[in-house]
Amino acid sequence: MATRWRVAVVGGGITGLAAALRLRDRAPEGTEITVYEQSGALGGKLRTGELAGGPVEFGAESFLMRDPVGGESAAVTLVRRLGLADRIVHPTVGQAALAVDGGLRPIPGGTLVGVPGDLAKVAAVARPTPAADHDGGRPLLGPGEDVSVGALVRARFGDEVVDRLVDPMLGGVYAGRADDLSLATTMPALARAARVEHTLLGAVRAAQAATPRAPGEPVFGTLAGGLGTLVDAAATAGEATVRRNAAVRELTPVGPGWRLTVGPTRDPEHVDVDAVVLAVPARPAARLLAGPAAEVAAQIGELDYASVALVTLALPEPALPALSGFLVPGTEGLLIKASTFFTTKWGHLRRSDGLALVRASVGRYRDEAQLQRPDQDLAATVHREMSAVLDTPLPAPVDGHVQRWGGALPQYTPGHLDRVAAARAALRATRPTLALAGAGYDGVGIPVCVRSGETAAEEIITALEGSGR
Ligand SMILES: Cc1cc2nc3c(=O)[nH]c(=O)nc-3n(C[C@H](O)[C@H](O)[C@H](O)COP(=O)(O)OP(=O)(O)OC[C@H]3O[C@@H](n4cnc5c(N)ncnc54)[C@H](O)[C@@H]3O)c2cc1C
Repeated sequence: MATRWRVAVVGGGITGLAAALRLRDRAPEGTEITVYEQSGALGGKLRTGELAGGPVEFGAESFLMRDPVGGESAAVTLVRRLGLADRIVHPTVGQAALAVDGGLRPIPGGTLVGVPGDLAKVAAVARPTPAADHDGGRPLLGPGEDVSVGALVRARFGDEVVDRLVDPMLGGVYAGRADDLSLATTMPALARAARVEHTLLGAVRAAQAATPRAPGEPVFGTLAGGLGTLVDAAATAGEATVRRNAAVRELTPVGPGWRLTVGPTRDPEHVDVDAVVLAVPARPAARLLAGPAAEVAAQIGELDYASVALVTLALPEPALPALSGFLVPGTEGLLIKASTFFTTKWGHLRRSDGLALVRASVGRYRDEAQLQRPDQDLAATVHREMSAVLDTPLPAPVDGHVQRWGGALPQYTPGHLDRVAAARAALRATRPTLALAGAGYDGVGIPVCVRSGETAAEEIITALEGSGR
């Protein structure tokens, strides 16, 4: 009789939880699944907290409803699997603004993360250079080629489109710069189209046409009650043993499986398992693999991360515009890089006491020194800058919270996906009972992380079935 499988999921963020649930759903009955999480709480970058007596996200806020290649996103499918579909809510105010030239301008529609499919639509914010987007008789990118988003868009549409539109939109997600970020990783649909189309305008239009959106179809969703409900439900449904405050410090190959060294150095625990889903950021993953898979560790350890802080303020009856928030291009010289008016954007968060919850994200890649300031200083600067951008003195906050996310946002440079593919291929060839998953590899968004965790779980099942275990 085959012995029961023992699988360790290292990392209790949304990737690890999705992996554990997929293992529970697809691995043979009786499989022992244990999630090891170094902190005291599951969820990683998903963290629902409380401010001024109401729920608020101190980390990720929402998920894309659609998969970039069409159909519902993996996050939505997970929400359905967990029986939470009736809790999905959408923004009641979708229009956001750009803070440029000391004022607010609506973010133009019809773009792909700021890259326009209709140049006329962006004219109020940036002046494109249409003549540069000529047809050179061949696709913009060769097969498998990757470039930075900034390099491609600067060459085709000019600097203003990058600096005033694409950069702030990408910066809002990655805290990084368009000139550094990989097109293939951050905008896969546009990269695919650029391998066929001869102009950038053609590529944007082709990418948009590949996944047409019904009028009024919501782009983003979140859960009433907060994303913490997704974390809790996924952990419960996975029926895994959850070990909190359990950092995995070493991974040692033992036969076809692994020995985990868990917990403090002075009192380590050793656990033998048949397989591991390694669902931690790339830096700790590289440290764990430096001994058993040095080549893989070197490939994945190249990835750098940006740090950010989220400053949330509860303001009594402020005069806010009917916007979901605003983005600030780096060229404006402000500390704030993005702001969300939570209680305007999300109807379910509106409060009867007149308090508005606003959140600002501060910190840009390679400008981490700004984050050394104390919490109070960050909060005061955010309050001052927000008043200036809105051109109205905001009331003094009645409550506030500063959440620091050190080394949290991956900065995928061109060639990232090739490096990840090479690392995974090396593992499959030498150590198939360990699978890499999470934001360090496949993309930063919650749906991509969910899919990454599920795929890793399936790879592990295939590897263990193949080994006759
Ligand atoms: C401020 C912020 C806002 C965001 N907003 C959004 C958003 O609105 N929408 C969206 O789609 N995405 C958003 N993202 C991105 C998204 O939240 C993350 O990419 C995603 O949650 C990452 O999930 P993960 O499980 O791969 O990694 P993580 O969430 O980082 O989880 C990894 C876990 O592994 C644990 N760990 C690390 N090392 C060890 C070890 N040695 N042993 C055991 N455990 C370990 C960590 O403690 C952590 O809990 C945001 C990210 C940030 C930082």
